[in-house]
Parts: sequence; C-alpha cells; structure tokens
Amino acid sequence: MSSIKFDVCVSGSGAVAMSLALALSREGWSVAWAKSPQVTPTGSHDIRTYALNARSIALLERLRVWPALKQWASPVLEMDIHGDQSGALNFSAWQQKVGELAWIVDAGALERLLGQALEFAPRVEVVPPVTEKGPSVLADLLAVCEGKQSTTRAALGVEFTRHDYGHWGVAARLRATEPHHGVARQWFRSPDILALLPFNDPDPLSSYGLVWSVPKARAEQLLALNPQDFERALNEAIQQSDADVAARVGRLSLTSEVAGWPLALARATRWAGAGWVLVGDAAHQVHPLSGQGLNLGLADVDTLVTVLTDSRQQEPWRLPGDERTLQRYVRQRQWPTQTMQGLTDGLLKLFADEHGPVKDLRNLGMSVVQRLGPVKQWLVNRALDAS
Ligand SMILES: Cc1cc2nc3c(=O)[nH]c(=O)nc-3n(C[C@H](O)[C@H](O)[C@H](O)COP(=O)(O)OP(=O)(O)OC[C@H]3O[C@@H](n4cnc5c(N)ncnc54)[C@H](O)[C@@H]3O)c2cc1C
Repeated sequence: MSSIKFDVCVSGSGAVAMSLALALSREGWSVAWAKSPQVTPTGSHDIRTYALNARSIALLERLRVWPALKQWASPVLEMDIHGDQSGALNFSAWQQKVGELAWIVDAGALERLLGQALEFAPRVEVVPPVTEKGPSVLADLLAVCEGKQSTTRAALGVEFTRHDYGHWGVAARLRATEPHHGVARQWFRSPDILALLPFNDPDPLSSYGLVWSVPKARAEQLLALNPQDFERALNEAIQQSDADVAARVGRLSLTSEVAGWPLALARATRWAGAGWVLVGDAAHQVHPLSGQGLNLGLADVDTLVTVLTDSRQQEPWRLPGDERTLQRYVRQRQWPTQTMQGLTDGLLKLFADEHGPVKDLRNLGMSVVQRLGPVKQWLVNRALDAS
C-alpha cells in the first residue's frame, strides 16, 4: 500500500462515482478513484436516456460537463400522463414558468464526458478497485458508489433490503414519423408502464428514448422478438392505449438494440459509519417510472460534498470520515429519498390493482389532481427537483 493518504477514496465506475470524484476535486479534496479496470473514458455503451431535473443539471454545470452534454440533450417542454381509462395529467414548462420540465440526456454520453473531465481533474488519482481487504490506498473516507450490487457495501456488513417488483424496464431508442414537440408521454397501462422521452438523436425533432416497464415474462418475450415484431408490439400497445395520441406520436421504429433491467425498490439499512458512506444506487434504488434514480444519486453527491466542505470550514479538526459529519449527509438525504420511493411505490401499487372500482378511482384521481392546483404543484416540484 502506498504511504500517500487521500482525503476520499471513491469506489465505483458509474455517473455517481465520477460526479462525486469531480465535485470533490473541484472543492480541493484529494481523491483516489477506485474504478473497474474495464471502464474507459469513451464511456460504456448504454442505450438508456435519462430524464435529469434542474438540480442535477445545475451540478453538471458546476462540474463543467453540461456545456458539452447539452449537445446530446433534449428539453422536456410538456409531460402527458395517461391512466388506463380516461384519467390524464398534463404538466407544461409554460404553466410552471420554467424553461423546461427536465432534460433528456444520453446515458453513454454522460458517462463518457464525466470520464473525460476526470482525466484533467486536479488531485484525482486512479487506483485499483477496492477488494474484500479494503481500498489499496489510505484514505480518510471511503465513498461507496458501486451501484445496487455493491460488494464493498456487503463487506461493510450493511444490509440492502430489496423488494423485487417482478418487472423489467425494457429500454431502446426510437424514431417517430411525427415530431415530438418536446412532449414526454407516459401510459399507466396496468400492469405495463410505457414512457416515451423526447430526444434529439438520431433525428433532432422526432426521436425518443423508450422505457417500458413490464412483468418479467412479458419482458423476456419482448427481448426475444426480432426488430419488426418488437416495433409492431410497441405500436399496438400505444394504439390500444389511445388512438388519438398514437396518431400524434406517429409510427415508431427502432434505432438501437433493445435491452432490459430488473426493477426493484431497495434501501441500505445504514448509509454511513466511521470512515465510510454510501452514495447513489449503492444506498437506494427506485423504480424508473419516476425517472429519479440518478437524480437522487446526483443530489446525494451535491449534499455530501457540501456537508464535507462546510465541515472543513466550520470544524477544521474533523476529518472527512468523521461519523458525526457523515450523519448530517444521511439526515439530509434520507427523507427526500424515502418520499420519492414511497410516491413511486404507491403509484405502482395503485396501478397494479385490477379491481374495477380501484381502476375508476385512480383515473378519477388523476383528473382531480389535474384540476387541483396545489397538489399538482407539489407533484411538479418533486419531479423538477427531487432534492
Ligand atoms: C430502464 C431504466 C431507466 C432509468 N431512467 C432514469 C431516468 O430517466 N432518470 C434517472 O434519474 N434515473 C434513471 N434510472 C436510474 C439510474 O440508471 C440509476 O439510478 C443510476 O445509474 C445509478 O448510478 P450509480 O452510479 O449509483 O450506479 P450504477 O449506474 O449502477 O454504477 C455503478 C458502477 O460501479 C461499478 N462497480 C460495481 N462494483 C465496483 C467496484 N467494487 N469497484 C469499482 N466499480 C464497481 C458497476 O459496474 C457500475 O459501472 C433508470 C434506470 C433504469 C433501469
């Protein structure tokens, strides 16, 4: 082991680990980045598009990654949410008096640009991955950003309670025959949830990112289809949901392969201890119907760096791994994360119920929320800034 001591060892290779390493470096902390050896600055090939909220974009702006990423991003100007009967909700940037409701970004481009920024970041050294014996370097704090399957979290003895939804998120890139006009659409089809996120690649005005949450058996069928049959199944699903909206979307065709992710609600029972902290999906996992998993992880990054940096100014005798300091981070992050997990889980349960009266009520509920200004505003605020 080298005798150099770092302030923080960041373990992980995804967007959360890279954002944390960059943000710490910008605040003057020395960082050992323990990433997987196969991760290169070209970024992993990920067909997902992420909906990022205003707080995430502000963080990426401060990290100076946003100007380049913006070329790969599309603004969401309107959001249409459809129930499985007549219920509908609509939000618009114009009504909310904001420039956009969210930005849709390319997952691969985000990781690639973060990786490139890290190559030039001062005080950041790439070190071998953390093993069961711990980090290969000395560091006051070990920040575990290894995603939901973190082995370091397990080695620390932290339990990860996991509720498997039995659903998979099927994702792909699409092109439509009609322009999207910046409208994101989501259909609660019970048991499916289908989302089309307006994107600008390959066609600037008529591309989408697809996230289609379906029961595992249906996901396996969809993933086994050839491209033409997949396109047919997708177009039929939208047509069955609402023929008028389907006409506005136009015919959808694939511009990428199709991939699937198992979906779960999960939470670590402890988020920090003396000398270690969990960040991002290593601490919590949420269903992608809310498009908030990475937003929560980036809000963790923002909060952790602020807490550490404030503590350095106000209590300079405390090291970054001081448990009292880390508990401030935990206190600030647990409530918003649990609120978002509860909201998403509640919606899923509501739309999983096949009973006629429940179906009627949930669709009526959507229409009532559409007319109730304060409730709708609360929901929009949560979506705009899941902090
Ligand atoms: C279909 C789908 C759509 C989604 N859409 C959205 C969306 O629109 N908006 C949104 O905010 N979120 C979305 N999410 C959630 C988002 O993908 C995750 O919340 C986010 O990727 C979590 O980032 P992370 O860096 O914490 O974890 P990960 O992305 O899982 O990254 C962790 C990385 O660390 C690596 N690693 C593991 N162990 C080690 C180790 N010991 N050493 C080094 N590296 C290690 C892993 O291989 C991985 O590369 C979506 C998720 C899915 C499945």
